[in-house]
Amino acid sequence: MRRKIVAGNWKMNGSKDLAKTLVGSVRSELASLDNGVEVVIIPPAIYVQDVAAHADGELGLGVQNVSEWHSGAYTGEISAEMAKDQGCQFALVGHSERRQLFGETDQAVADKVALLLDNGLDAIVCVGETLEQRENGRAEEVVATQVRQGLGKVSGEQWSQIVVAYEPVWAIGTGKTATAEDAQAMHASIRDVLADMGAPAEKVTMLYGGSVKADNAAALFAQPDIDGGLIGGASLIANDFISICRAV
Ligand code: PGA
Repeated sequence: MRRKIVAGNWKMNGSKDLAKTLVGSVRSELASLDNGVEVVIIPPAIYVQDVAAHADGELGLGVQNVSEWHSGAYTGEISAEMAKDQGCQFALVGHSERRQLFGETDQAVADKVALLLDNGLDAIVCVGETLEQRENGRAEEVVATQVRQGLGKVSGEQWSQIVVAYEPVWAIGTGKTATAEDAQAMHASIRDVLADMGAPAEKVTMLYGGSVKADNAAALFAQPDIDGGLIGGASLIANDFISICRAV
């Protein structure tokens, strides 16, 4: 009953050529897929139209970030409205790289989420603890705070536009994946937080991200509270990404 989603976050990788080769083969391979998964490609914003041309309306499209402002003198930024205007249905918010390298705060996450919802886009809101926080036994508390603050402005029907991606920072791009049991435990704990916030928690799609590969995807996606994945490195290799989409 919850949406199943596999989203490929290209980060600052890719080219016109990758849009053509990878997106073309993902689209044709997945045409026969009948497991109900929504496949989403999230390239650098400058390649959104190249991906769109090859996705041919069969794959979802997203951007990796949007501005917390509407429009105006914010050189280098792109707005939620522009993402919508270019045919995107999704945007990532609060990715750990944005939080760590670009100082994105939970307040900024909340503002961006509000703008995305206003524009009818789905927000994939990323949360996750660092290794130090996990080793200090604070993982659930840290993630709960990110969820409560980042989603603090969401209400009512808007919850249907929210996707939560749990991405432990220590697992991103490191080759270390959370065990399926640990990932499931955190997803269940996030669902409890959502319920406590008054969200229809059982209906909110939740993705796991952090070194998801073709060989560990099935075990992760088999967990009851894991509804798909947010894929970095493996989303740049067509066969790996296709295998992950099939594992849902
Ligand atoms: P990874 O990245 O799959 O390369 O670990 C995941 C992400 O950052 O979304």
